[in-house]
Amino acid sequence: MSTTLERPRTGRPDVFVPELVYFEPDAMNYPKGKRIHEWAVKQGLPIRMTTSHNRITNLPGESELEQYKIAKRTLVVGIRKTLKFDQSKPSAEYAIPIATGCMAHCHYCYLQTTLGAKPYIRIYVNTDEIMEAANGYIQERVPQITRFEAACTSDPVGLEPISGSLAELIEFMAEQEFGRLRFVTKFHHVDSLLGLKHNGHTRIRFSVNSRYVIKNFEPATSRFEQRIEAAGKVAHAGYPIGFIIAPIIWHDGWEEGYAELLENLAKTLPPGINDLTFELIQHRFTKTAKNTIEKRYPKTKLEMDIEKRKYKWGRWGQGKYVYPDEQANALRLFISERIFDHFPQATIDYFT
Ligand code: SF4
Repeated sequence: MSTTLERPRTGRPDVFVPELVYFEPDAMNYPKGKRIHEWAVKQGLPIRMTTSHNRITNLPGESELEQYKIAKRTLVVGIRKTLKFDQSKPSAEYAIPIATGCMAHCHYCYLQTTLGAKPYIRIYVNTDEIMEAANGYIQERVPQITRFEAACTSDPVGLEPISGSLAELIEFMAEQEFGRLRFVTKFHHVDSLLGLKHNGHTRIRFSVNSRYVIKNFEPATSRFEQRIEAAGKVAHAGYPIGFIIAPIIWHDGWEEGYAELLENLAKTLPPGINDLTFELIQHRFTKTAKNTIEKRYPKTKLEMDIEKRKYKWGRWGQGKYVYPDEQANALRLFISERIFDHFPQATIDYFT
């Protein structure tokens, strides 16, 4: 079991500590639930009980916006009942559910719409059952490799000091001949992962962006330098690593911004990283997302003018607004060239 909770928190103000914690009573029957409960008591956090992690209805706050902000600092500890995994194309076959929700405030985050009225943070304590389900999915596809993405509905590295769930998944996946784990993060809390046996079966990717995007649209995440330092640490620990540049945003000075980003990555990363991947995702939004973002971050500088975008039909439901082809191609070409200039050995998995 991870001992991350026992580390002193002084001098680490950037580790997430919720303001309010809910527990499903049954969560206490699991070691992780007990451990988080003991930690919350020790921290002196207000604790409430809830019958279901899906139904938190009495959050404090006068206005909708205030409730949203409080929800982002509310932790709910429960049991994941649905063990049917969603697909997670293009980066993996399945999403592995260990947590839902995130304490950061990235204006563009798609969780704004996918989590709807439930933006609070949920940690699932039944990791053994989740891993058993993953094993079932792996066996179905043998001898093909099955990849699991652990960051589809959350930023699990930001929560790792509380949950320890990634450590469990990494060690589980190390033993799976046909299973692989991957996750992406904007946080730097990787220290508890460095000494684990991973067998190269987990790829840790860091979400990075131009200085402008990080400064204007990613409040409450780890700083760029912290993310890069963390990338260096996990690379030294032998993990395959990667970078997701997302969302790629067309802004004044974007060429300088993305050129500087790649230059900084090349300067800061330890030399000789072999297995390095990049994933490139241009900014996109739905009409629903635009409305929600404008309500929650009314002063945002995020450009969401549908007149300036191309409509891309969605396979299931409403389509998305992406950049017109000319802009998308310019972004893709420019950034791909900079990647190969600095990292000739890298692979670009996709641009979408
Ligand atoms: S860190 Fe990731 S999951 Fe969290 S708010 Fe930002 S984009 Fe969303």
